Amino acid sequence: MGNRHTAIVVGAGIAGLAAALRLHRAGWRAVVVERAPARRSSGYMLNLIGGGYDAVERLGLLPALAKRDLGAFTSVLVRADGSAKFTVPQAIVEAAQGARAMSVFRGDLESVLFEAVADTAEFRFATTVTAVAQDGDGVTATFSDGSTERADLLIGADGLHSGVRRLVFGEESRFRVDLDHMVGAFPLRRVPSGLAEGSGTTFIGPHRTAAVLNLGPDRSSAFFAYRSADTEADLARGPAALSEAFGDLGGGVPDALAQLREDPGGAYFDSVSQIRMDSWSRGRVVLLGDAAWCVTLFAGYGAGLALSGADALGEALEQDDPPAALAAWESRLRPEVEKRQALARTGIARFAPPTRFHVWVSDMTMRAVTLPGVSRLIQRSIAKAR
Ligand SMILES: Cc1cc2nc3c(=O)[nH]c(=O)nc-3n(C[C@H](O)[C@H](O)[C@H](O)COP(=O)(O)OP(=O)(O)OC[C@H]3O[C@@H](n4cnc5c(N)ncnc54)[C@H](O)[C@@H]3O)c2cc1C
Repeated sequence: MGNRHTAIVVGAGIAGLAAALRLHRAGWRAVVVERAPARRSSGYMLNLIGGGYDAVERLGLLPALAKRDLGAFTSVLVRADGSAKFTVPQAIVEAAQGARAMSVFRGDLESVLFEAVADTAEFRFATTVTAVAQDGDGVTATFSDGSTERADLLIGADGLHSGVRRLVFGEESRFRVDLDHMVGAFPLRRVPSGLAEGSGTTFIGPHRTAAVLNLGPDRSSAFFAYRSADTEADLARGPAALSEAFGDLGGGVPDALAQLREDPGGAYFDSVSQIRMDSWSRGRVVLLGDAAWCVTLFAGYGAGLALSGADALGEALEQDDPPAALAAWESRLRPEVEKRQALARTGIARFAPPTRFHVWVSDMTMRAVTLPGVSRLIQRSIAKAR
């Protein structure tokens, strides 16, 4: 195909960078537009397993990412006061995850992707798209600096609150399904007090989870999820809402919340919402990643689907011209995305159990992992499920 095809990629997150990488391999030129003034680093921890791990391998990112793998850690389930209920040793966590799994900071994954495309794609930071017009031959985007770019394809990889989706497909409210929960996740500047290095504590109570991870300096993080009676009000309050929802807990939580108060801007804080659309493309505009199908953290796999979706998109564009390639790509991907979206409900029961009985069942399941032979069984059933 030579270098004659151009794609405008909106969003330099996981989906956008992976698309730029894969399209370059397919012979395309990519212009990447990112709203943020510069690349972000750090962020929350992502697990890459199954199709996500396979896509990392196919995109040639395994060697660079392996250096940033946070590895498995000792997992301690705690009571509200922070005292240990029971501990799952690191070796058992590792065995249950299997060999084809990795845990990386979102910023590290984005850095590795960025390094892989920095020399081949053109980047425009602090820029967004204000208008999109298309005809039979191509698509023209107007950028926020007033300039325009003509391309064969425009990829909206601008996340859950996608601007491309609003411009081309309609208002977010038409596609967003709220799951009535909030999530907060942020890196810890200081090693959290109250837990040993190389371990993570998790408190799971009715309607909420608080997890604090001590993997040493620059590698520690915190994660909170809870059911919210009014997600709009919580969003308006910002990350401070986490102090109200989790202020009663002990262990590493008070220190994590104190660090959040010192630097609320470094936190991810949003309502948990899925995006459900009948079609991910319109003519020469296609949505990719959370912009198209956000499955939520309750389903896991969002980053994995962004990577495998980008990889499959590049493959489809090698075979056919858009929009035929987009139709083939979507029918290949949709069953897996819909399966993951449905699994988010199971995730809610895990991260925010509806009753004390559900909490007890979840405790028992985790406790069982430590029994001899069970971790091998779990490993086998995980492999089978994938
Ligand atoms: C706490 C948490 C834990 C998670 N854990 C996991 C996990 O363990 N495993 C997993 O696979 N997934 C996980 N996920 C999901 C995963 O993080 C997302 O699915 C993934 O980041 C989606 O990538 P994306 O590139 O589609 O969107 P995003 O990461 O949201 O990137 C969008 C990019 O577009 C930019 N942008 C936004 N609007 C515009 C605009 N108008 N113009 C230009 N640029 C714009 C943004 O600045 C950003 O750079 C988790 C999510 C959360 C919140």
